[in-house]
Amino acid sequence: MSVRILIPASEVKNRQGIPLILENGNSCSRCGQSPADFFETHRLIYRVGFRSTHLYGKKYKISSGYQLKLKVCETCFQSDFLTHPELMDDDKSHLARITRFYSMAWSLGGLLAAVGFLLLTPFIPQIGVLKVIKTLWQLPVILGVLVLFLTWLSQRKYQSKVLREIEGRNPGFRPLPRAEAHTYVLSDEEDLTLTALEIVLINESWAEVCAQKNQWKYELVSKPEDDTQKKG
Ligand SMILES: [Zn+2]
Repeated sequence: MSVRILIPASEVKNRQGIPLILENGNSCSRCGQSPADFFETHRLIYRVGFRSTHLYGKKYKISSGYQLKLKVCETCFQSDFLTHPELMDDDKSHLARITRFYSMAWSLGGLLAAVGFLLLTPFIPQIGVLKVIKTLWQLPVILGVLVLFLTWLSQRKYQSKVLREIEGRNPGFRPLPRAEAHTYVLSDEEDLTLTALEIVLINESWAEVCAQKNQWKYELVSKPEDDTQKKG
């Protein structure tokens, strides 16, 4: 069983730069361990007024991004580094910095390789100094591939180190799933009681206490539903 928390529009409206934080004391939203000094982050969009007739431009009357953050312990945070590095919290923690570094290195390697192949194409004309540069196309390709390979190697090594740390503290650890967050497209901007966001958590007791504390509606669910009207 899981718990589905329904969060009204009043909680997510005008949240640019101010994350919506779900917490229950200092315990982890997944495994219940304390302390929970890290966050699981979801990047969401608050949307009102779907414009079905638009051809281009704004698809919604209001569309603004915000972040949902749930408290997690260090072990669950580290397990995200292994399973969902692209979804890591964008904070000042060591793992978040490492993740950003790898992301940049992947982009740089890809860019260098792409520049090399671009030099091979007729888009770069054979005139003047470009003629000489075009003959050196292998250089950025080799550099790019080298950067990609070293990044892959280093990332694998670092992931093994983090896995060893997790298993050292919790033998037989199995990563628990992230919360599911679904945003609703609202029809009425003025009605702030409408449900704008629903979150499904597997840690029932944690979710219930959190919802009660904030006076949000919640319900027990056996399995997350597939509802095509929901987005995000
Ligand atoms: Zn945890």
